Amino acid sequence: MSNSIYSYPEQYAQDIVSSFDLTPPIDLNKVCEKLDIKVNYEPLCSIEALLIVSRGKRNIILNNSKAAYPQRERFTIAHEIGHYIMPWHENLQQCDNVVDFKSDDDFECQANDFASELLVPKSNLLEDIKHKKISISLIKNLAEKYNVSLVVMARKVLKHTDAEAVVLIYWPNGKKYIQMMSGTFKEELKDGSITKSSAHKLLTSYNTSAEIKSVLDSSIWFKESKNTYIIVEESMLQNKLGRVFTLLRKADDGDVLDLLWDI
Ligand SMILES: [Zn+2]
Repeated sequence: MSNSIYSYPEQYAQDIVSSFDLTPPIDLNKVCEKLDIKVNYEPLCSIEALLIVSRGKRNIILNNSKAAYPQRERFTIAHEIGHYIMPWHENLQQCDNVVDFKSDDDFECQANDFASELLVPKSNLLEDIKHKKISISLIKNLAEKYNVSLVVMARKVLKHTDAEAVVLIYWPNGKKYIQMMSGTFKEELKDGSITKSSAHKLLTSYNTSAEIKSVLDSSIWFKESKNTYIIVEESMLQNKLGRVFTLLRKADDGDVLDLLWDI
């Protein structure tokens, strides 16, 4: 690895990927081995993970009393590696709510940006989304390929696509949480329940499938815009969490043709 001082967390991640010749899914054991970082599991009271660099020893400690699914754990380890590698980060870090991408803490956001780039290198991702329509199945397949969570992959795909799209979480009371908007997405979501949406139907009707793809008018989801247009909504029920994962994307000619075929 070079000893350059970069300005962006992503550059540190890119340096690791190229120096250690890594390809997705990124082997974090190899990264830790190369950097001489040990990963241990201990019951930590409330926090999710720790980084301790002291007397030449580098340790990441994960909370084994908080069960995390493997992709979440990978992200946490990558986040701690980020704290270690960015020279302006302290040698002792106590991290909680690691995947909070909207944290007020700049250091936490930088460690997350690092982790996203280490696990999903931009150069690999750009190849994987080139000429592809952004869809939930694409995001799911890529999440599997890179061994990351759906949310981490959705954020990364939306960051790098030219498509006008937004990924959000929808709850039965109409509350929404925007995970990520693509750079070209400019609309504002309507407040309250979107009763005509598939997301709402998934949470309020019985006997629906777990996923619905629909083509609808932009005015159903978005606040008053002068020109309405056709959008594609893909919604997926996350039953255990009592919520829906939704992707909204401006439709193209191909989508409209698909719709005609479906009819
Ligand atoms: Zn942290």
